[in-house]
Amino acid sequence: MKIYNTLTQRKDEFIPIEEGKVKMYVCGPTVYNYIHIGNARPAIIFDTLRRYFEYIGYDVNYVTNFTDVDDKIIKKANEEGVSASEISERYIEEFRKDMDALNVKVATCHPKATEEIEGMIEMIDTLIKKGHAYEKNGTVYFKTRSFDEYGKLSKKNIDDLEAGSRIAVNEEKEDPLDFVLWKPKKEGEPYWPSPWSDGRPGWHIECSVMSRKYLGEQIDIHAGGEDLIFPHHENEIAQSEAANGKEFARYWMHNGFLNIDNKKMSKSEGNFFTVREICEQYPPQVIRFFMLNAHYRSPLNFSRELVEAAKNSLNRILTCVGQLNFLLKNEAWKSEAMSDEERKLYEEVNALQEKFNSSMEDDLNTADAIAAIFEIVKLANTNCKSDSSKEFILAVKDKIVMLCDILGIIAEPEEELLDEEIEKLIEERQLARKNKDFARADEIRNLLLEKGIILEDTREGVRWKRS
Ligand code: AMP
Ligand code: ZN
Repeated sequence: MKIYNTLTQRKDEFIPIEEGKVKMYVCGPTVYNYIHIGNARPAIIFDTLRRYFEYIGYDVNYVTNFTDVDDKIIKKANEEGVSASEISERYIEEFRKDMDALNVKVATCHPKATEEIEGMIEMIDTLIKKGHAYEKNGTVYFKTRSFDEYGKLSKKNIDDLEAGSRIAVNEEKEDPLDFVLWKPKKEGEPYWPSPWSDGRPGWHIECSVMSRKYLGEQIDIHAGGEDLIFPHHENEIAQSEAANGKEFARYWMHNGFLNIDNKKMSKSEGNFFTVREICEQYPPQVIRFFMLNAHYRSPLNFSRELVEAAKNSLNRILTCVGQLNFLLKNEAWKSEAMSDEERKLYEEVNALQEKFNSSMEDDLNTADAIAAIFEIVKLANTNCKSDSSKEFILAVKDKIVMLCDILGIIAEPEEELLDEEIEKLIEERQLARKNKDFARADEIRNLLLEKGIILEDTREGVRWKRS
């Protein structure tokens, strides 16, 4: 697997720290509103990377955070006259719903900044003791020049940065490049006690701390949108490496930005869309498919025409799978097993799977991987007919569904049970209970539960509902 590494500025072969394992950390959202369509890009991209790693056999530990204390959250809380935690909890819930709609897998661990303050105080304390940080009137700053390699990720020269910055009036920092690790509370803000002041952490320290706590001092992949390269990730490196005395992340991955109609998304321009709004207009997986059709490092333009095109394109895959399922309902098979000719065609399908894999392994080239799926679809449309063998149709269909699944695209929705089918199963369960065949009765209850049907035994009989 080759990954473009922002740190080395080339595609590097992925070699995990621990064999068979991937430790990855993806910077998560600040939860003060519904997420916008740009925020969905890193979530979808890095979830796809995770799914691919899992498919090739890695055990992936995927950690992503919630920034649940921040100026924007506090501002929103004050506007609504509620607490900051009420705002963050509300939008964490909404975020989870959006992720679910986009078929983004739940992270292995999803820590919240406000629950990790103790660890942050501990790391800040270490940085002070090691001479990388200092306190002034309750504020703690990171001494940027104390970290020799500062600028190595963003390729910025520290002297150029210095020349471009000015110390503001009343500035208490020793150097304009120093950044905040801890700041004292202001009136009406949430705060925590610390050795330096009652206050709250700066933004960058949370990722250094959560990443170390849940993944260890050194991790394989650290990822996020390209706006995070500087200063957020540069500062994370400085904090983590200064505190731990070890290289922090080996591969730094950054997705390009999503623009709307070729313009930067902005609320004041009126070209700002939440995931929720867009998902009301299109099936959510069309959005996912749309994002995966571009290379993750390229800028991506979002427009209705392009999303419509993605929808039509995805429909070609779904229609093909639907047609194959229709053929599979055929009861009178001419032959069950593949013919020699079909076997040859299936070799082509396997070669296309290889093409899919090698595209994914070339720095997650999902656009080329999708092109390989379309070649299988084309082969299926030309060759799967009512006189094909059952084995061939099933194998081709399973391949398309499996490759789509790696991309987080559901090509074959689980069939819902019809009301009559449910009633029939309930009747069978009642009969089994009457005959004291409790094993069968339980089996039916569980089978229904798997399909989202909940049974309720009442005095009037069995009632059921869809969960
Ligand atoms: P934020 O809540 O602003 O910290 O953003 C959460 C994630 O979304 C970060 O990884 C950002 O880099 C990413 N992000 C924000 N805006 C965009 C955008 N327009 N296009 C792509 N990624 C974005
Ligand atoms: Zn971060």
